[in-house]
Amino acid sequence: MRILLTNDDGIYAPGLRALHAELSKLGEVLVVAPATEQSAAGHSVTIYSPLLVQEVRDPAKNFQGWAVEGRPADCVKLAIRQILPWKPDLVVSGINAGSNAGINVLYSGTVGAAIEGAFFHLPSIACSLEMPASGPPDFPGGSAFATKIIREILTKNPSPGELFNINIPDLSRGQIKGVRVVPQNTASYVEWFDKRVDPRGRVYYWIGPDFTCPDPHPDTDVTALAEQWITVTPLQFNLTRFQALQIMQEWKWDLTDDRFTKELPT
Ligand code: MN
Repeated sequence: MRILLTNDDGIYAPGLRALHAELSKLGEVLVVAPATEQSAAGHSVTIYSPLLVQEVRDPAKNFQGWAVEGRPADCVKLAIRQILPWKPDLVVSGINAGSNAGINVLYSGTVGAAIEGAFFHLPSIACSLEMPASGPPDFPGGSAFATKIIREILTKNPSPGELFNINIPDLSRGQIKGVRVVPQNTASYVEWFDKRVDPRGRVYYWIGPDFTCPDPHPDTDVTALAEQWITVTPLQFNLTRFQALQIMQEWKWDLTDDRFTKELPT
């Protein structure tokens, strides 16, 4: 088993090192990851600046990787098209410092990298660890759980491009209850901004670090994670709304110039 490991917290992040140690039990792991933190980069890619690459080695820990001055998705593209000596069998992204559940999946660079892996028709898995309210996160413990889940997924022979999102609850909060396969929560988060004034009198804002999801839908990744379940969500990147597709394909599309005289609903 050849595994490409990446993340969005950067190649020096403790979460990536912990997951590297665990994944090495499943096969050969090579790392191509951002040189600096790229959290919330989503699926962005770099097109107007060069993607500098530097090799990072730690022989004592059997760690070989490449740091890319780019986004998580850039790392996966470069890894597969240029850097790696082999085509991976699996792409793993993480383990992220912080859960990636609900609509945050769409902002996540961790998930963005996994989606990029799926574009290459590889089974791809995003792994995230919920952070404790205080105290240090248990990246080794979280990575051990994530790797067990990955091992279970692999025994089911995932098809090319199959995409999974794994979240591990904050381990300091108590015992893990088990694993639940749940859909992504789609309820909105409440975010806040800290309004400040700079020394030149200009207004600026910081987005607050804590988002709350006051009304999460039951039986979703957000609620199961809060109840101390490991969550696994099968994802897809095809955003087509298939329910609307058939209906809309029956629509008549008027391209004549009478469009301004047509009665529109008010
Ligand atoms: Mn991150």
